[in-house]
Amino acid sequence: MLRALLVALAATLLVPTPADAKPRTPVEPCSRGLVALTFDDGPLASVTPQMVRLLTRLEVPATFFMVGNRVAADPELVRLVDRAGFAIGNHTWEHADLTSQTRAEARQALADTQQALLDAGVQPTDLARPPYGAVDDRVRRAMASEGLVPVLWTVDSRDWTGLTPKQIERSVVAAVRPHRTNVVLQHDGVTNSPATLKALPGEIATLRERGYCFADLDAAGNPTPPVPRTSVRADHQRIAEGDRVRLTVRLDRPTTRATRVPTPAGIVRVPAGELVGRTWFRAPQDPVDEAVERIALGPRAVLRVLDDDPAPVVTVEDTTVTASPLLPTTATITVRLDRPRDRDLPVVVRTPLGAVDVVVPARERVGTGTLTAPVGTTRLRAGETTATLTVRPPEQTWLEAARAAVAEVRWPLIRLPRTF
Ligand SMILES: [Zn+2]
Repeated sequence: MLRALLVALAATLLVPTPADAKPRTPVEPCSRGLVALTFDDGPLASVTPQMVRLLTRLEVPATFFMVGNRVAADPELVRLVDRAGFAIGNHTWEHADLTSQTRAEARQALADTQQALLDAGVQPTDLARPPYGAVDDRVRRAMASEGLVPVLWTVDSRDWTGLTPKQIERSVVAAVRPHRTNVVLQHDGVTNSPATLKALPGEIATLRERGYCFADLDAAGNPTPPVPRTSVRADHQRIAEGDRVRLTVRLDRPTTRATRVPTPAGIVRVPAGELVGRTWFRAPQDPVDEAVERIALGPRAVLRVLDDDPAPVVTVEDTTVTASPLLPTTATITVRLDRPRDRDLPVVVRTPLGAVDVVVPARERVGTGTLTAPVGTTRLRAGETTATLTVRPPEQTWLEAARAAVAEVRWPLIRLPRTF
């Protein structure tokens, strides 16, 4: 009688109210909080692979708490779960109630399972789920001794009791609470697990529509916000120095907290639940003559900044040399740029006495070379040791200067005192 009454009450609650009939404003993704799905008692060849495929297709993370003897029996199944990116936890060796075991037995049941997971070639988490949720201080200590953290649940789907897919879906959806810790217990390793598999698409779609995000468990066993993959794109791939370009940051999935994405224009903050953020990037304008600059926007996207500065104008400086009538005379030829470059600039200074190669190093504005004049080319009068060498670059356009400087050297120009 009471049961019938409850069913009738439930039925009246399911009648749509006028508020439900109104077109609902779309709920912001993730605005209601997180749901962590967990699947126990597997792996099971008839269910687990299908569940992994389904969750992968729907981009839903989950944690599988596996039974050690099942892991040892089918390590390939375990690898399949691991390679699909799902977390794996410890559910003891043979699903025993740990509270009814000695501490040594409990430790053994946990350690053997952890070893079986390692033997299967996967890296298990440090999370352990006590079978039946049976945990006491002794079990907690046994887990801690094995470096494991117990994880219970807040939502029991009761899927193992033989519920239909629709019943499983309803029991989960009804029990999830906004902004609370939602850890859902379901099974991939029990007789009724095919029903759980069928319940999942509806369950996931409904929770998403209601503004929930699916989550992994962190090291303490609490749902942790999803970490989206980010990409940055520029409106134009090529810009000139000083130009502005709009950068669009995109997340591949929403999350429950703001995401900070580094870009060449600084950090872009994408608010919780949103997928796109934008910013402007202005290519720096500097007086340096540069090759095309590649600015990485991400692993694939690159922004090319073209330099709009003219190439540097090259001048050759006056130089004073002390000439010897007996030894070859060397003169230092100094080349100066009116602006630095981001790469070495080779300059060939041509003189009647030969060419001098001068390299102005990248980022610098001055380079030097040595001109050697053989004995006899300086027509110094007896007793004189000093001559003035005047070096002048020819007229040049900036375009010519970009390739090489051409300077004429008249050697030597000797200034003699009038008194002689
Ligand atoms: Zn279990």
